[in-house]
Amino acid sequence: MAKKRVAVIGAGPSGLAQLRAFQSAADKGAEIPDIVCYEKQSDWGGLWNYTWRTGVGADGEPCHGSMYRYLWSNGPKEGLEFADYTFDEHFGKEIASYPPRAVLFDYIEGRVKKAGVRDWIRFNNVVRDVRYDDKTETFTVTARDSQSDTETEEEYDHVIVATGHFSTPNMPHYPGFDTFNGRILHAHDFRDAREFEGKDILIMGASYSAEDIGSQCWKYGANSITSCYRSGPMGYDWPDNWDEVPALEKVEGKTAHFSDGHTREVDAIILCTGYKHHFPFLPDDLRLKTANRLAADDLYKGVVWINNPKMFYLGMQDQWFTFNMFDAQAWWVRDCIMGRIALPDTATMEADWKKRQADEDALEDDYACIRYQGDYTEELMAETDYPGFDVEMACQQFYAWKKHKKKDIMAFRDHGYVSPMTNKQAPAHHTPWKDALDDSLESYLQTS
Ligand SMILES: Cc1cc2nc3c(=O)[nH]c(=O)nc-3n(C[C@H](O)[C@H](O)[C@H](O)COP(=O)(O)OP(=O)(O)OC[C@H]3O[C@@H](n4cnc5c(N)ncnc54)[C@H](O)[C@@H]3O)c2cc1C
Repeated sequence: MAKKRVAVIGAGPSGLAQLRAFQSAADKGAEIPDIVCYEKQSDWGGLWNYTWRTGVGADGEPCHGSMYRYLWSNGPKEGLEFADYTFDEHFGKEIASYPPRAVLFDYIEGRVKKAGVRDWIRFNNVVRDVRYDDKTETFTVTARDSQSDTETEEEYDHVIVATGHFSTPNMPHYPGFDTFNGRILHAHDFRDAREFEGKDILIMGASYSAEDIGSQCWKYGANSITSCYRSGPMGYDWPDNWDEVPALEKVEGKTAHFSDGHTREVDAIILCTGYKHHFPFLPDDLRLKTANRLAADDLYKGVVWINNPKMFYLGMQDQWFTFNMFDAQAWWVRDCIMGRIALPDTATMEADWKKRQADEDALEDDYACIRYQGDYTEELMAETDYPGFDVEMACQQFYAWKKHKKKDIMAFRDHGYVSPMTNKQAPAHHTPWKDALDDSLESYLQTS
């Protein structure tokens, strides 16, 4: 029988988890399918592969990057650590708990370099189209290689979509935006907080991007920060020059008007208004349409596209757990493709995601959400040979992180946590986050 062919779209943390999952099976002597991973950028790492570009990339495609300079992990590294490749193994020592982007990129890359899967990736290849043929029961994947400026069309038995969902901005419009006498940008296009030194900025939104981009601007010398919310405030004990106010109603010139009647002069407006799941290369019958939530629509076990279970999605959930959850998913998808896990009928798969959503809707707070996603990760891990880890301990590190944020939003990154993989306590970073202006790997890894 001919070997199966599998296409993985995207070489970010999710797609790379998939490559590592197959490679680990091959390492244990299993015969694995032929794998082709399409990656539109020239390097791996997904969002962690920083680019200064915004708008359109060098290949003429929408720029994928949403990461900015000076980004430090917004959750403890102990919650995202790979079970098969610890920070300790990569860096030869325990490092502090909130690594900057370059350090996390190095860690992500270390595992896949060791696995030797780079040759499976076609870089500079954007997938333009995927079609399923009921007669041949195969997918045709059309991609364009931006280096050679040529198009390829190839057939696969399975397609795994790992293109992320934090790259296509959700852009609201407010009266006066068209004539605002300053800069308006979405978080997706934010790159360098130093641009806003000395400026009065308005941050729209109340989630991670709002909190972190506002904090970056504060750290690098913004004159004042105003953040506005629709459904509720973030509620941290903000520095004196940061006000959290109700919803924006309109802008006139440089004056922002809020729903409680007060006004503020601002130089720039940063829209931290979220992202859309967007798959321009997929036809309707294969395209996931879901809100950003812990249990996505139409995905059995959070990964199988129930309308065509030969197709899979990775990392499409809202995320507390990240890298190790992607691993749990990737190992599970691998085993499904390799016939080690059997899928139930469509009705059972449909009932599965609906039940997961009902359970999610009943969750009371963020602590329960963390536990819910931990349980999901554990459920998948238990069904494969992924090394596994102490999910309860990982949840405890997340809970401590939440409490540290509540206590001091500008100092939570100064704490260290216990690795659920090695049981070792991370050291405190040598410099408080607010004073550490150099986010390079070299600076972070210094011991004092
Ligand atoms: C600003 C920001 C900060 C974040 N901070 C953290 C953090 O501190 N800690 C944390 O754990 N998580 C963080 N995240 C969450 C982030 O989602 C995950 O860490 C992770 O990057 C998701 O991996 P992914 O592989 O699913 O998606 P991505 O990282 O988005 O990778 C998707 C890949 O698919 C490629 N691709 C897309 N379309 C195509 C196509 N048509 N053809 C070929 N290739 C394509 C892209 O080029 C990209 O390489 C952050 C996210 C953002 C936006």
